[in-house]
Amino acid sequence: MTHTTPTADDAPDANGDFAVPADDDAVRCRHCGAPFADDELLALHRGLDHPGDLSADEREAFETAYDAEQEEIRRFRLLALGVLVLLYFGLLMTYAVVA
Ligand SMILES: [Zn+2]
Repeated sequence: MTHTTPTADDAPDANGDFAVPADDDAVRCRHCGAPFADDELLALHRGLDHPGDLSADEREAFETAYDAEQEEIRRFRLLALGVLVLLYFGLLMTYAVVA
């Protein structure tokens, strides 16, 4: 991820909520104009913030992106739990040996 310094061309949108560099190729929501880095994030936004205004293709894109996001969150939770268990028993065994 690169970070760019805002310039005078990076004017916030009409609501003043977002400042996107002028040369960035962000995709925008057609309902509220919010910018997103890729189509998957846009599909998630549309499904969560504009659920009543979705076409069949947009709904399918949202469901696909939502399922992928849920799977990613489940994997992260399992990984985080594994790390905590390893850390706990690692410290416990270290304490048992040293003390
Ligand atoms: Zn929107």
